[in-house]
Amino acid sequence: MMNETHAEIFRTPKTFPLNATELRDVIKKFPTPFHIYDEKKIRDNFRRLREAFAWAPSFREHFAIKATPNPAIVAIMARDGAGTDCSSIAELFISERAGVTGERIILTSNDTPADEFRKALDLGAIINLDDIAHIDYLERNARLPEIISFRYNPADIMNDGNDIIGRPAEAKYGLTREQIFAAYKICLDKGIKRFGLHTMIASNERKASTFIYTARIMFELAAKIKSQLGIKFEFVNLGGGLGIPYRPDELPVDLKMVSDGVKELFHEIMVPNDLGDVRLAMESGRAMTGSAGWLVSTVLHKKNTYKNYVGLDACMADLMRPALYDAYHHITVLGKENAPCDAIYDVTGSLCENNDKFAIDRHLPQIDVGDVLIIHDTGAHGHAMGFNYNGKLRSAELLIRENGNVEMIRRAETLDDYFATLKI
Ligand SMILES: *Cc1c(COP(=O)(O)O)cnc(C)c1O
Repeated sequence: MMNETHAEIFRTPKTFPLNATELRDVIKKFPTPFHIYDEKKIRDNFRRLREAFAWAPSFREHFAIKATPNPAIVAIMARDGAGTDCSSIAELFISERAGVTGERIILTSNDTPADEFRKALDLGAIINLDDIAHIDYLERNARLPEIISFRYNPADIMNDGNDIIGRPAEAKYGLTREQIFAAYKICLDKGIKRFGLHTMIASNERKASTFIYTARIMFELAAKIKSQLGIKFEFVNLGGGLGIPYRPDELPVDLKMVSDGVKELFHEIMVPNDLGDVRLAMESGRAMTGSAGWLVSTVLHKKNTYKNYVGLDACMADLMRPALYDAYHHITVLGKENAPCDAIYDVTGSLCENNDKFAIDRHLPQIDVGDVLIIHDTGAHGHAMGFNYNGKLRSAELLIRENGNVEMIRRAETLDDYFATLKI
């Protein structure tokens, strides 16, 4: 699948799970735009992570619900043993609907309202606090749980703006090193006996070394807290942030390299400190569902002014990442997958916002009105980020089951939904 104008190496070829006839049949039943997910691919992504860490004592992936907040999606991984990472009350309800309750849930939130803590406690979730002051807030507004965890912000050892991870000192999340020791001490004094430790420092990171470095920081911290306070942790959660190759010339994370590196450190640091049975956990979102979703949209208009535009029936309300982060999402045109990419377009939505563009100056085949565009890798932080600016309505979500059936797992919003909150 070489592109004539742009000679690229396609290390991660961009594929779509349905052939042209199948997709056209789906579109007859469910009009565009929609996000469509592939159950098999989600399951494969989950199993690959689980298998990479099969050596670790009862490894658990808590799927970050915010990436794809739909119970049908969460349930795919839950059936294979996944837990969830929730950061809002809605996500706690989604987890419950997907059949994930108890300590398979971790609540990793910040600036947390009391009702969210109460719902998490009702579900028996693990509470992962973002601040030392939250111990008191939790006790006053709900109750203290049986097991508690804290999120560590490693700015004290990564304060030089490590460009892999960004500057933790600028991040609103987590406790300082000093606070984290104090926080566990307070909890011990209050009679809490079960503990976990958490951090989350990477985002869309594809370098194995970042995750291995994170593990080193966390294992050393766990050992230090144990030696100072006598706490034997039940789990160490390394957070999410595993990246995916959005560009076809990029490579995925080498999970084996991550796993081997983490394992070596586990044996070097954890095992000799009598922490060899501590559960390793992750909170991956993007790496589970990102590559397993596509935004399918139809070309409404072509426009030639100072540039050439194709206007879609989807807009930034359906996929905000390009506008928000200047993120690249690969685009293919149905039926023109092998055509030469000899045209250059800005691919836009209809918002009255000039950054409502899925691609800028993109080499694509000649596009006609009515063509169907497939925007790749929209399965995580895609539909989920949708919003209603300009009165735009969020699209439907479809799921291709492993048996080939296509189900609607969320209908498109209607004008009635939009008007439902108005008092006229
Ligand atoms: C967003 C988030 C995740 C998931 O991030 P991905 O990049 O999707 O893996 C995990 N944990 C926390 C606390 C988050 O905020």
